[in-house]
Amino acid sequence: MSAAESMPAPAAPARTAPTAPGGPHVWRGIIEEYRDRMPVDADTPIVTLREGGTPLIHSEYLSELVGCQVHLKFDGANPTGSFKDRGMTMAISKAKEAGAQAVICASTGNTSAAAAAYAAKAGMTAGVIVPKGKIALGKLAQALVHDARVIQIDGNFDQALTICRQLAEQYPVELVNSVNPYRIDGQRTGAWEIVDQLGRAPDLHVMPVGNAGNITAYWRGYREYAADGLTGNLPVMRGYQAAGAAPIVLGHPVEKPQTIATAIRIGNPASWDQAAAAAEESGGSIRSVTDRQILAAFRLIARHGVFAEMASASSVAGLLALHEDGELEPDQVVVCVLTGHGLKDPEWAIAGAAEPVTIPADLHEAAAALDLA
Ligand SMILES: *Cc1c(COP(=O)(O)O)cnc(C)c1O
Repeated sequence: MSAAESMPAPAAPARTAPTAPGGPHVWRGIIEEYRDRMPVDADTPIVTLREGGTPLIHSEYLSELVGCQVHLKFDGANPTGSFKDRGMTMAISKAKEAGAQAVICASTGNTSAAAAAYAAKAGMTAGVIVPKGKIALGKLAQALVHDARVIQIDGNFDQALTICRQLAEQYPVELVNSVNPYRIDGQRTGAWEIVDQLGRAPDLHVMPVGNAGNITAYWRGYREYAADGLTGNLPVMRGYQAAGAAPIVLGHPVEKPQTIATAIRIGNPASWDQAAAAAEESGGSIRSVTDRQILAAFRLIARHGVFAEMASASSVAGLLALHEDGELEPDQVVVCVLTGHGLKDPEWAIAGAAEPVTIPADLHEAAAALDLA
């Protein structure tokens, strides 16, 4: 018998992520962090990339400008760069629990990026249907790099969603758009994190509205925390659509939605009624901001350190509009949700910026170019 054979077999590799015995709290992902509020049990396979736990950033600049205490909830800091991860960890975990091997979604980009990543983590196949030519480059890259089956249609998001609903009815694939209730369940955690971080709900909550699942989820999240006594107040909810894609504001679907904010380029939101209810019950509103206002807000927050994507900037554009219209009360606690990361779509950032200067590799030239000498 050789020495190797007499040695004890190495321990089987750990099947679950190791947890540190002590030290600072390490964020475990939204399902573990809020397990008692989630529709999971001990047997649910948790598919996580440790999403959530994103920064709530106090903006001194915006606070000064509008006379309120303004915080930016930067959900672009999620693993795939948007809030969609919060819903996707739930939807994919439940799909896996149900034994599904494939998932499908329609997407303006970020849902497909999240579905592709979480399906890959779970060992499942993701099919994504997107409007041709309307997906930001970074988002398309994400779906491709995670091996999703990417199908482009000559059509818009709303048509893609219709096809996906029918596919899920007629074939063995699980639909993971926000009409899947588990998506909304996961997205409630954004509201809980804000309350946990602030110690109360904000007075005013401002966010983009596209397919309207996220505003539905936030409002549910706030109300559940209030019902359990974890916040004494509820925020006024103000949602912002892009002016060229503002069906809820107009009161009818928009057949050909147009906006530079592609993530909210949606003409017939799936959660229309719930979004309208959130606005009404909270004493808030769903309004629109123009692409010009969105672009200005995008540049403004970037100049103060936060690079969010165009759709996300509609929340700050909305806040600025409220300020200009004299609708803000002084010293209110305000949260603007920044739903996705600016790196998703770098073309917009580069388009508006001056070309970098080129110099010889020389100290004095560098000093002169930087106006130091
Ligand atoms: C999906 C998305 C939205 C819109 O969210 P809805 O839940 O569809 O209203 C806004 N911003 C970004 C970056 C998104 O990815």
